[in-house]
Order: sequence, then C-alpha cells, then structure tokens
Amino acid sequence: MAEPWLRKRLELEKMMGVDALFRQAGPEDELVKLEKEVAGCRRCGLWETRAQTVFGRGNPRAALMFIGEAPGAEEDKQGLPFVGPAGKLLDKMIFAMGLTQDEVYIANILKSRPPGNRDPKPDEVEACWPFLERQIELIDPRVICTLGRPAANALLDTNASMGSLRGRWHTFNGVPLLPTYHPAYLLRSPGQKSKTWQDLKMIIQALAEGSS
Ligand code: URA
Repeated sequence: MAEPWLRKRLELEKMMGVDALFRQAGPEDELVKLEKEVAGCRRCGLWETRAQTVFGRGNPRAALMFIGEAPGAEEDKQGLPFVGPAGKLLDKMIFAMGLTQDEVYIANILKSRPPGNRDPKPDEVEACWPFLERQIELIDPRVICTLGRPAANALLDTNASMGSLRGRWHTFNGVPLLPTYHPAYLLRSPGQKSKTWQDLKMIIQALAEGSS
C-alpha cells in the first residue's frame, strides 16, 4: 500500500488528468483490446465451426505488414496466422528479404477458418472488414504486402486478377501496397516464385528508401 501522502498525490494527479497524460494507450494495448473483441465475434456463421479466432502475429510496430486470406487447419488449431505449410514458406520469404519475424506483422482478412478451407464468402469478408481496418490503423505499417487474390481484391476493392495487380504499387488508405502471390499458391506453382521474389525486392527497396 502506498504512503498516505503518495496515495493522496496520485489521486490528485488522476483528478487533474495527469495519469492520462503519461499513460496513453499504445498500439499494443489497443491491439489486445481488439483481439479480445475478435475472440468473441459472432458477426458471421464461422464462429460455429472455428476452434478459435486467429488475430495476428509479429511486431505491432512493424514497418511491413503481410495480409493473407484466412486461417487454415493449423492456424485454427494454434490460434496464429501462417503457421502451416504456407506459413513455413512465408517465413522463408521473410528471411530471404533479410528481415526477422520481429520486423513484420502478419494477419488475414478473415479471423476465423472457413470450413474445409473454402474461399471466404463476401458476407464473411464484409463482417470481418472493420477488424482488419482497425488492425491496419493500429499497426500503421509503412508498407502492406497482400498475399493472394482475395486479400488484394478486398483491400483494393477490385475483382482484378493477380497477374494484373502484382508487380506494381497500389495504395490502401495512403499506405503503399504491393500485391504478390500467396505462398500456398507458390507451393503448388513453384514456377511463380521468381515473380514473387521480384515483388519482394520492390518492398525491400521501398523499406530501405524510407529508412535512409
Ligand atoms: N493461408 C492464409 O491466407 N492465411 C493463413 O493464416 C494461413 C494460410
């Protein structure tokens, strides 16, 4: 228990709003709140079949944010995005970029697994959208990299093909966004890895330019 004089002073400071001046919530606190909200979400029917929600992983202050489609079986089990086979490839891509897991943040457009890994339905994307929008706002990345067509289409509000979207810069709410292929697709079509590497090099360059 604090000394009476200290308690009185702290109470006085709190009354004067000093507490608020010194302890403003950072992105971490707000992300924890958002993650709790997501965990109880029943905005679409996916809550009935998911084991748990999958919010995000990585550094909440990362300059680079990856956004994929939706959790798969392994993600649903562990509660973390990209921890299955596609995630292993994504980790290798991050390593090849000269970055560590602690220098990126990874999330998905959907926070719950669609049964049987089917494509997200438009109403599910719409229901989950405010969570992703807020998550991006809190992370405040310098660059966004979308993985696969559903993520690129959702963030760019288009129906365009990956072939026409990748390899060039777009923006999302003023943040430079580069779409590239999804690692799960690259596992099926390794011939597209070189194009993905070209995309990742554009990101490395953008990050380097921003920090010089
Ligand atoms: N595929 C995705 O799009 N996200 C994951 O988290 C895992 C696989």
